[in-house]
Amino acid sequence: GVAMAKSKFEYVRDFEADDTCLAHCWVVVRLDGRNFHRFAEKHNFAKPNDSRALHLMTKCAQTVMQELEDIVIAYGQSDEYSFVFKRKTNWFKRRASKFMTHVASQFASSYVFYWRDYFEEQPLLYPPGFDGRVVVYPSNQTLKDYLSWRQADCHINNLYNTVFWALVQQSGLTPAQAQERLQGTLAADKNEILFSEFNINYNDEPLMYRKGTVLIWQKVGEVTTKEVKLPAEMEGKKMAVIRTRTKPVPLYCDIIGDAFWKEHPEILH
Ligand code: ATP
Ligand code: ATP
Ligand code: MG
Ligand code: MG
Ligand code: MG
Ligand code: MG
Repeated sequence: GVAMAKSKFEYVRDFEADDTCLAHCWVVVRLDGRNFHRFAEKHNFAKPNDSRALHLMTKCAQTVMQELEDIVIAYGQSDEYSFVFKRKTNWFKRRASKFMTHVASQFASSYVFYWRDYFEEQPLLYPPGFDGRVVVYPSNQTLKDYLSWRQADCHINNLYNTVFWALVQQSGLTPAQAQERLQGTLAADKNEILFSEFNINYNDEPLMYRKGTVLIWQKVGEVTTKEVKLPAEMEGKKMAVIRTRTKPVPLYCDIIGDAFWKEHPEILH
C-alpha cells in the first residue's frame, strides 16, 4: 500500500504501554461474569446448576475458539472460562490487551447473540459483562497446574452448592441456616449429608456439574448438502456429503490426573 504521511501528533503512540507476553510461554485469558450472583437471580437460573447457562457459556467459548486464532484448549465452569493460546502464537504480536479484549468482547457479544437459543422464553433483561485477565505460564507443568486449580475450584464449589441447595430446597432450611449447618464441614461430611439425608450419591451427579467443560479441537464428520455438477442428467440435484471438519468439542472429564494429557499429547506437544 501507500506509505501514510505522519502527522506531528504521531508521537502520542509512544505513550502506549508494551504489554507483549513473554516469548514461548502459554498465554491464558480467563473471563468471569460480572456480578453473576445477581444476574443468575434476575434470570431465574436453576440452583445449584442451570444447565442452559452452562451450555450457553460453552457455545460462546466455542465461538471464541472458532473466531480467534491459536486457542488450543479452553476450560469453563460457573460464570468463568479460561482460554489457552499456543506457546508460540504470534497473534497480534502477543499483546496481552489484544488477546484479552478480543476474547472478552467476542464472548460477551456471543452471550447476547445466542441467549435465545438456550433460554427460549426467559428474556434477557440487561446486557451482561465479563472481566478478563491474562496470565502467562512458563512451562507445561504450570499450565497443567493452572487448569487443575480451576477444576479443583469447580469441584469444591459444586460439592458445597449441591449440599447447600438440598438443605434449602428439600429440608426447608433458610440460606443462613444451611450456611451455618455447613460451617467447618469437610468434603467427607458433605458427601455423608448428601447420602444419609437426601439419598444422593455425589458421584452420580452430572459430570458437567462436577468437572466443568473442557473444549479441545477434534475432527467431526458433518453432513452437508452439495449441488451435483456431473453427470449432466443429475444436474441441479442435491446430494448428502460427509465432510470432516475440526471443531471445538466439549468433554466433561478429569484434567487433574495424567490420563487426559496422555490421551491428548497434541495439546501441549
Ligand atoms: P464477580 O463480579 O466478582 O465475579 P459474581 O457474583 O459473578 O461476582 P462469582 O464468584 O463469579 O461472583 O460467582 C458467580 C455466581 O453466579 C455463582 O456464585 C452463582 O450464584 C451464579 N452462577 C453462575 N453460573 C451459574 C449456573 N450455571 N447456575 C446457577 N448459578 C450460576
Ligand atoms: P482491525 O481488526 O485491524 O481493526 P479493521 O478492518 O477494523 O481491522 P480499522 O483500521 O479499525 O480496520 O478500520 C475500520 C474500517 O471499518 C474502516 O476502514 C472502514 O472501512 C470501516 N468503517 C468503520 N466505521 C465505519 C462507518 N461508520 N462507515 C463506513 N465504514 C466504516
Ligand atoms: Mg469472582
Ligand atoms: Mg463472576
Ligand atoms: Mg465466577
Ligand atoms: Mg478495527
